[in-house]
Amino acid sequence: MPVLAAFDVFRFFHAGAAETLALRGVSLAVEAGEMVAVAGPSGSGKSTLIACLAGLDEPDGGYVELLGKCLTRKPEAERARARAASIGVMMQSDNLFPTLTVVDNILLAMRLARRIDLHRIELLLFRMGLLERRDARPHQLSGGELARAGLAVALAAKPAVLLADEPTGEVDARTEASIVRLLHDECTEGTAVLIATHSAAISGEAHRLLQLRDGRIADA
Ligand code: ADP
Ligand code: MG
Repeated sequence: MPVLAAFDVFRFFHAGAAETLALRGVSLAVEAGEMVAVAGPSGSGKSTLIACLAGLDEPDGGYVELLGKCLTRKPEAERARARAASIGVMMQSDNLFPTLTVVDNILLAMRLARRIDLHRIELLLFRMGLLERRDARPHQLSGGELARAGLAVALAAKPAVLLADEPTGEVDARTEASIVRLLHDECTEGTAVLIATHSAAISGEAHRLLQLRDGRIADA
């Protein structure tokens, strides 16, 4: 059974008379320990797909299954619970609460999942190279540190699935390499990882590359 699967997912947006067909029947599955990259030009639907997969947004058609259970068309509270317990989401920015330190951001994510593990906090800080930045607040961090802290927060509750939306969109090549390595380590430990990315470095490391074009997965 895949950890996360999408079945014929559609998502439309309306602005006045204009209709955007952001997703037009996307099906995919990600297994435990698998790293899947979703590439595609700007506007092809990558962020919309991540939001639907995370249960942050509701598809207009089709559905998403998380660990064999339908996540779609469920009350927001139920989706939020499933997300806190099983899905780590890393967006391009704003992954941290600005008033909380790095370590408190990680702790908060663990609290929401009811999975507080002080040893894991130290492990994540160590692996992300943030031991010395633990008490810093987001505005005191560099772009690379922010990205690594966002990843630490996404991984706080040891999620079954990690969804990352262009995680290396705003970082230098060295930070990108370290993030790719961290994502890889996470996969090796059994996490299902799906990354929307423009980066050839990430696509090259993924087990599978899906090409999104105009809201559809293009044939390989
Ligand atoms: P990508 O992440 O690949 O750049 P997006 O998923 O952000 O693509 O966007 C896909 C399409 O849906 C784009 O045409 C975008 O303008 C449109 N879109 C995304 N979100 C919204 C929204 N909330 N309202 C209206 N249109 C949207
Ligand atoms: Mg996007």
